[in-house]
Parts: sequence; structure tokens; C-alpha cells
Amino acid sequence: MVDLKGQYAAIKNEVDASIQEIIDNTTFINGPKVKEFQKNLEDYLGVKHVIPCANGTDALQIAMMGLGLEQGDEVITADFTFAATVEVIALLKLTPVLVDVNPDDFNISIEAIKKAITPKTKAIVPVHLFGQCANMEAIMQIAKEHNLYVIEDNAQGIGANYTYSDGTKAKSGTIGHVASTSFFPSKNLGCYGDGGAIFTNDDDLAHTLRGIVNHGMYQRYHHDVVGVNSRLDSIQAAVLDAKLPKLDSYNNARRDAARQYNAAFKDVNNVITPKTVNGCDGICDTCDCHVFHQYTLKVKNVDRDALVKHLNDNGIPCGVYYPIPLHSQKAYKDDRYNEADFPVTNQLIKEVISLPMHTELEADQIKFITDTVIKFVNNN
Ligand SMILES: *Cc1c(COP(=O)(O)O)cnc(C)c1O
Repeated sequence: MVDLKGQYAAIKNEVDASIQEIIDNTTFINGPKVKEFQKNLEDYLGVKHVIPCANGTDALQIAMMGLGLEQGDEVITADFTFAATVEVIALLKLTPVLVDVNPDDFNISIEAIKKAITPKTKAIVPVHLFGQCANMEAIMQIAKEHNLYVIEDNAQGIGANYTYSDGTKAKSGTIGHVASTSFFPSKNLGCYGDGGAIFTNDDDLAHTLRGIVNHGMYQRYHHDVVGVNSRLDSIQAAVLDAKLPKLDSYNNARRDAARQYNAAFKDVNNVITPKTVNGCDGICDTCDCHVFHQYTLKVKNVDRDALVKHLNDNGIPCGVYYPIPLHSQKAYKDDRYNEADFPVTNQLIKEVISLPMHTELEADQIKFITDTVIKFVNNN
């Protein structure tokens, strides 16, 4: 699914030197490299504050802690996403409110959000799933009307641009009140271990968050709030700082692969290629509207699981993101949910299949993958 070895080989000298410097200096925790990376990421995103932390799940949790959300507050998020999003809501004893998504871009449905709002709703967590922004303009409008916080889960969207209806653009993760991201190795900007960050343009919130990540400490050994220990270590910051200047070219390589996949599947019945809904209609290198964390097809009238097996039998890795809706997971089941409210998620889990997507895909690999998919779909 990913080729981290191939990507490393191309940047080995820079990364090795950057890591060696940390070892030579023994500045393993909170070293200058963490600050440097933080500053460089702030500049890249055009956001006032980046607060590095230990992983993307912590980033979400800390963002919610920083906003002062309290037990019983309702937080609306997508039913079709990785479990981390709902997990931290539940962990903080907030009330998760899972809602359906759109069939075309897989992102949280605006209509479903509107329907789910109650007097207890305090926040919305859109997830920029597979690398394309949710409809942030509509979400920010709803948030304004109902006085809600918006926390962007940007673990899959780093580098993507969101285009407003007036044509102006903003980087994903800089639009809501606060955002989280993950630097897990297979993410679009991945380190060589765990890592994450929180973004915000709000000075006061940034101050609060910097204390929370460090045991609730704003002055040495004065603990003003209950915090956590969540740090990005310097070696990971060194890897990320070496890779950040290449993020746009990495995302371009992903888009290039997506374009080749789309072209191969263009006239194939029952194979629906991912739709780009924000920015340009196609996939261009200039608008950055989709960064293809995953390249996800929908297949109709074919046994998706048999297709997965067939690809695996032919040495092609593939993934099903996600096979079970969150509202059906044992940990997150709730009598409040009604199956009729999740028609899209309940359908997507049967149809989606994600093909290999990374920065090192070659045209002949893509041809082998698409030929194998097409042959199976046409014969079954
Ligand atoms: C990867 C991911 C996370 C969690 O990130 P970790 O760094 O693994 O904790 C959260 N949300 C989404 C949507 C993700 O894809």
C-alpha cells in the first residue's frame, strides 16, 4: 500500500544527517529541532500556531481538552472514519454524535449535521477523509449560527487546499477553530515513529494547548490544569523537517498516480473513481484540492471482498477503509442511533476498496494493478 523504503532511499542523506545531529547533540526531548520544524510547518500552512505532540489521536484529544468541552457536551462527527476520532470524544466523557457522510466525497454530510444539532451540541469534528477537505464553508456557517467549535481532523489531509466559493484558498487544518494532524509513517507527511500536531490561529487557545501537552504546566512545577504528557521527540522532528520541503512534490506524485488510475478506469462499468468536489473538477497540480491519502474506488455489482482476495492473490496489496461503520462498533453502539440515518455509510462499507497509493508508484505498477482490477470486474 505504501513504499516507505523507496521514499527513504531518495532522501537518505538528508534524513540520516538530520537524525545524526540529534544523537550527537543528545537533544532528544524538546530540542531546537522541534521548534524549527514547528516554525517551518507554521509557515507552510499559513497558520499562527503549530503545537507538536506525540500522535494524531493525542492531538485530537488535546484540542478538545483545550476548548474546555465538558462531560455531556455533544460532539458531531462522521460515522465513516478511523476510530480515533470518536474514541477521544468518548474518552473525555463527551457524547459522540455520529452522522452519515456523502456518497461522492466520503466526507461528513451537511444535511446530517444540521439534523443532529441539539441544544447540547458544542462542537463538530469534520474529518478530511482520504485527503480531500470536507465542506468547510458550510460547516463554519453552521458553527457560527449555533455557536459551535469546529475541530478539523486533518490526519489524512495535510497539504490539501480548500477553495471557498469566492475562489480564495486556505490550507486544510487552518479553517476551523483548531485542527489535529498525524505524522504516522504512512500519512502524507510521515515520520519514522509516532508524531502529531495541533494547529490554531487563536493565541489564547495555543497558550492553553502548550500547557496541556506538558502536564498542564505553564510555569515550571506549577500545574494549573490537568494535562497530559504528549511530545514530538526531536528525532521525529528532524525526519519531518527534512521531509516538509518535499510535501508538495509528494502530494503531486500521489495526484499523478490518481490521474493514471482514473484514466485506466474511465470507461469501466461498475468501477466508480473518487470524485474531487472542491476546487477543480479534475486532478491538477496547481489547485492541490485533493492530496490522495487514499485512492478509493467504489465497486458496484461485484463482490468487493472477492476482489480484495483476487488482488491479494496477484500480489497486489489493497485496503478496505472502513469495513464497519463506527455506529455499529461494539464500543460506540448506542440506542440513540437509527440504521435509517446511515444509508450512505452502510452502503460504502460494502463498496469501497483502496488501491496502493504512495509517492513511488511507477506507471507499470499502476497498469498491472488496474488491468487486474478491470479483468476481475468484467468477468464477475
Ligand atoms: C491516522 C488517523 C488518526 C490518528 O493518528 P495517530 O497518529 O495514529 O494517532 C486520527 N484520525 C484519522 C482520520 C486518521 O487517519
